[in-house]
Amino acid sequence: MSSQSPIPWFDDFAGVAYRYYDLRMNVIPLIVDRKQSASLWNDSIHWWVDPSIKIRFVEMKDDYWFIMGSDSQKPDTNLAFFKILAKSEHYERFKKGHGGEAYLRLGVYQKNSLNDAKKSDMCSCGHEAQDHDEGDDDVCLFNDCSCKVFFSFQVNLLKRKKTITDIKFLEEKDVKDDSLAWNCFNVNKYSKIE
Ligand SMILES: [Zn+2]
Ligand SMILES: [Zn+2]
Repeated sequence: MSSQSPIPWFDDFAGVAYRYYDLRMNVIPLIVDRKQSASLWNDSIHWWVDPSIKIRFVEMKDDYWFIMGSDSQKPDTNLAFFKILAKSEHYERFKKGHGGEAYLRLGVYQKNSLNDAKKSDMCSCGHEAQDHDEGDDDVCLFNDCSCKVFFSFQVNLLKRKKTITDIKFLEEKDVKDDSLAWNCFNVNKYSKIE
């Protein structure tokens, strides 16, 4: 194990989006607050040394651990990201399609209620806003759909980006051989069990 000084783990973000932009897959941690996204970028990510940025996906049964860290030109304010997330279609698409490279961008996450939504906005159930009841409970009107509450969100992408070329998918048994993932599991899982 290398003897790096401990870097704080940051998990106060809403999730991660995976999307195509600029011909490349983008990995987009979703930050809830605009000011926070600016300070995360300016204080930490801006100083990351691109070739040293690492993303690790540690796959569990239905979930995965998103783990991201980097060497920094300003180690004092460096952070590493982690979050336990549910596997999704977008995640699987990223896994198949990234081709060893991705752009890292931050997204500011804005949740829309049925009242704020346009008719054609898509709910997480896959049906549009106009297919949801506008009464007290905004259930989906499709008979075979079990959606009870309209849920959609908008992601405002920040322009600045970094290039990631070190992307690995691991299982938990591999974690001990990867310094970033090992550090993350040690701090956020193993040390909390006992
Ligand atoms: Zn719905
Ligand atoms: Zn639906």
